[in-house]
Amino acid sequence: MTFPKSEISITQDGEAKSVDISTWIQDDVIQPFMIERTGMSGRSVKLGPALDAILGRHDLPEAVSVLLGQFLALAVGLATALKYEGVFTLQTKGDGPVPMMVADVTHDGHVRGFAQVKGDVPSLADASNALIPKLLGAGYLAYTVDFSTSAERHQGIVSLDGASLADVIHHYFEQSAQFDAAVALAAGKDAADRWRASAIVVQHLPAEGGVGGVEIDADDWRRTTTLLGSATSVELLDPDLPPADMLYRLFNEDGVRVFEPRPVQDVCRCSEERMLNALAALNDDEIQEVVKDGAVVMTCEFCNTTRSFTPEVIREAKSA
Ligand SMILES: [Zn+2]
Repeated sequence: MTFPKSEISITQDGEAKSVDISTWIQDDVIQPFMIERTGMSGRSVKLGPALDAILGRHDLPEAVSVLLGQFLALAVGLATALKYEGVFTLQTKGDGPVPMMVADVTHDGHVRGFAQVKGDVPSLADASNALIPKLLGAGYLAYTVDFSTSAERHQGIVSLDGASLADVIHHYFEQSAQFDAAVALAAGKDAADRWRASAIVVQHLPAEGGVGGVEIDADDWRRTTTLLGSATSVELLDPDLPPADMLYRLFNEDGVRVFEPRPVQDVCRCSEERMLNALAALNDDEIQEVVKDGAVVMTCEFCNTTRSFTPEVIREAKSA
C-alpha cells in the first residue's frame, strides 16, 4: 500500500488536517514525524547555516569537523525525543586524538558544541570508516539532562564501542530499557563548500508503560530500521531535499505524518557576566596566577569568543 504524498498532514490537539508544508522551514530544522501504520515516532534534523557557523569558528581537521557535525545533529535529534525544560548535553571522553567532544541543546533549540584536538588526526579518507576508534579511541559517550525547573538530573553512559557514532548510540539503545531507537547520521560539505549535517531518529517505546502503549512488532521494527539504513549520505546532506520529502521517500509505504517543525539556532550561552562570576570565585593568589600582561583572558570553548578582564574588574565583581 502506498500513501499519496498529499496525505502528509499536521496534527494539532489530535486534529488532523492538510497543510501546505512547502511554507515550512526546511533547514536548521527539527522535523517531527510519525509512521502511520506502526505508530513509531521520530525526528528528522537538518543542520545547514547553523552548523557551518559553528564549525567555521574552529580550525578543526576535516575528519573532526565531520564527526562533530554528526555529533551535533545527533544531539539535536536525541534532545527533542525528551520532554524537558533545560539543557541536554552529549559528551564523549576518549584516549584518541580527540579527547573530548561536547554538544548541548536547550529546549528552545539553541545548539552549540566543540571538539578538543590533541595530537595527530588521520585524514578523512583514512578515518571515515572508523571515526570512533581513530579519532576518539577508547572511552565513553554520556548524556545528561539538566532541568531548568528543578535540581533533577537524568544521565546515561555507554562505552565507545563501534566504528561509527551511529553504532555507539545503537549499543546504548540496546542496553536501555526505556526505549529502542535507530539513527541515520551524516555530515559533510555541500557543493558550495558549506558544512551540513543531518540525523533521522526513529524510536519506539516498549508496550508496557510506554507512552501511548503502542506495541511494536519485531518484524516492523526490523523493516523500519532497514528503511532508515537505506538513507544515503548524499540524500541526508542534500540542501534541496526538504525533510518531509526525505521522510516520504523512506517511509511512504507505511504512511508518514509530519508535525509542525521547530527551528534550530546557533546560540552560545556564554556571557561576560558568567565568565566574570567564575573569576570572582577565585582567591587573590589564584587570580594573580592567571593574570598575563595585566589582564585575564578567557576564551569560550564553544563559540571561541575571547574576553579579557583586569584584576581591578575582578576584585570589583568579588566585592559586589
Ligand atoms: Zn560561547
